[in-house]
Amino acid sequence: MEWTSLNDLRESYLKFFESKGHLLHKSYSLVPENDKTLLLIVAGMAPLKKYFTGELTPPRRRMTTCQKCIRTNDIENVGYTARHGTFFEMLGNFSFGDYFKEEALPWAWEYLTEVLKIPEEKLWPSVYEKDDEAYSIWKDKIGVREDHIVRLGKEDNFWELGAGACGPCSEIYFDRGEKYGCGKPTCKPGCDCDRYMEIWNNVFSQFESDGEGHYTELKSKNIDTGMGLERLACVMQGVDNMFEVDTIQNILKAISDRAKVKYKDNPKSDVSLRIIADHSRASAFLIGDGVMPSNEGRGYVLRRLLRRACRHGRLLGIEGAFLGDIIEVVAHENLTAYPELTEKLDYIKKIAVMEEERFDATVESGMNVLDQLTAEAKKNGKDKTRN
Ligand SMILES: [Zn+2]
Repeated sequence: MEWTSLNDLRESYLKFFESKGHLLHKSYSLVPENDKTLLLIVAGMAPLKKYFTGELTPPRRRMTTCQKCIRTNDIENVGYTARHGTFFEMLGNFSFGDYFKEEALPWAWEYLTEVLKIPEEKLWPSVYEKDDEAYSIWKDKIGVREDHIVRLGKEDNFWELGAGACGPCSEIYFDRGEKYGCGKPTCKPGCDCDRYMEIWNNVFSQFESDGEGHYTELKSKNIDTGMGLERLACVMQGVDNMFEVDTIQNILKAISDRAKVKYKDNPKSDVSLRIIADHSRASAFLIGDGVMPSNEGRGYVLRRLLRRACRHGRLLGIEGAFLGDIIEVVAHENLTAYPELTEKLDYIKKIAVMEEERFDATVESGMNVLDQLTAEAKKNGKDKTRN
């Protein structure tokens, strides 16, 4: 396996599945179309939901995408840990009542071992404990060593969300090596330690659940796969987390140059650097997809991301508007896959800078109020306790 850039990985995955008869569709917007149940796209399959349910007919029964996603439920953790982020891309190959396990699993293996040349002994497939069909495809058809195939329970390897289509999953884990492990003899994929990293998940949507534990076999079975692009890049670049992946590292570098601080010099400024890197990526794509900062819905998500980025810029000692310049780097790093960011760059920067200026004005008026209150308290002799 060779060091491969994030942009090249995206392209090689999509090309591979195009060669297997899939229709390549560019990433759908982060703003869900005709779907009131979702604020933002949170998974690769989300924009394709109606093809899975049969409500709409897909343009082809095999499709492949690299989908922009945003998840903000962990926003408070972003920056403080290196593993959380709000913006990420999901690689996916999908079958709408077309191919099933017999094709999906060998293709996943072929891509990882023949295209990316990841050594087989580094890869561990897992199957749902009752899915003998998937187990035997791994063992007999693909020829994976039996002691490298793990059976896991429902909590790990069965995808289900209330009533509706559901089914078992088969994941592929990458062994990062002993130094990441807990050292226990039982250490295998599914262990709580950091040794085995899940990189690929194939969901076999084959049952219809009534929500009360009764499953009937679906006539039209689907494949929904997902592989985090940033996570795959970590494997192929031999780095620990997404902030060290090439394109994101370049964004982070632009911020640290601007702030005149070095990454990994001081844990506190690292938090701010990671927050700005993540949030400026998310904000650039959100504005590019037509979201405007506001006080509700997705506009509020964007406002929060932009203001958090500004605040951490100030914490790093950056003076004046800087987000526009960082967004320019985001656009540049994504030029091949998302030329629209560069095409709309002036507009995206304008919206971000306007919000940045509004944030500064709010902080300033807040500071004035605080000064006033302090002065009044002093006059009234109320700050004696502090002397
Ligand atoms: Zn372990």
